[in-house]
This record gives sequence, C-alpha cells and structure tokens, in this order.
Amino acid sequence: MAASSFPLPDTDWDATRAFWAGAERGELVIPRCGGCAAYQWYPAPACKACGGKQFSWTAVSGRGRLFSWAVVRHGFLKPFAKKVPYVTGLVTLEEAPAVRLVTNLVDCEADGLQVDMPVRVVFRPLVFPDTERQVMAPMFTPASEPVAGKERNARDV
Ligand SMILES: [Zn+2]
Repeated sequence: MAASSFPLPDTDWDATRAFWAGAERGELVIPRCGGCAAYQWYPAPACKACGGKQFSWTAVSGRGRLFSWAVVRHGFLKPFAKKVPYVTGLVTLEEAPAVRLVTNLVDCEADGLQVDMPVRVVFRPLVFPDTERQVMAPMFTPASEPVAGKERNARDV
C-alpha cells in the first residue's frame, strides 16, 4: 500500500479486490470453497476445511451477530484522531458463523451493544481528512430480530 493512501485499505490487492468491488456495489461478498462450500475469511490460497483451491466470491445476506467489540475513545494514530469515539468489532455471518469480520459498528449506542445481538451490514465510505480517495466499506449496525412476514417479504421482492 502506498504510504500516502494510509489508512485506506488497498483495494487493488488481488486477495481482497473482489471484496472491495462488492462493497462498492453494495454487496457483501465472501470467498466460498468450490470443494466443500465453506466460506473462508480471511482469503487464503487453500480452504481450511478441505484444502480446495477453487473459490468463488459469494454474496451473503449481510445479517450476522456481534461477536465482540471495543469502543475506541483515543485516536492513537493521527488519521483516526478525529473519528473517535468509534466502535470496532467482530461480526459473525448468518451463513457462516465461523467467519468473523473485523468491522466498525455504526449508528448505535456503544452502551447498548450486547454479545450475540443481531446486526446487519450497511455500506459507508471510509473518509479521512488527509486522503482524497474514499473507499466504500461494509460496516454493521444493530438489527431487530427477524420477524415473520414483513422482513421476509422485503427481501423477496
Ligand atoms: Zn473446502
């Protein structure tokens, strides 16, 4: 990554280019093994479950659960100083509870977060004062528990 683009992620890196391209389209995509159908994150050359080497980037629902989090109140690195306080966390995916995405929790009260609470993906630009470029990134926000009817219909249209 070019030093001048820090702290933005390198969206041209082969291993994660599809991930960032998906986010730009508003899709959360995760590599899925062609051999055993396991989702694998972080991307790796071989499947941890079966050793397979064929992966396809697969869109997931964006629904998940909050695994853990931390409220960052001090900007130790200059580019992050103006963003505090913010919440960084690990989210597991509905389709793949073994996958834990490092992400930010947004539109939430830090005090209201609970282990295993349902969350859903939202896409927000990563913007920093010293960088011109911005990168769309998947972040998560608390979601209500799925209820019969309404939410299912909304997804099916
Ligand atoms: Zn596999």
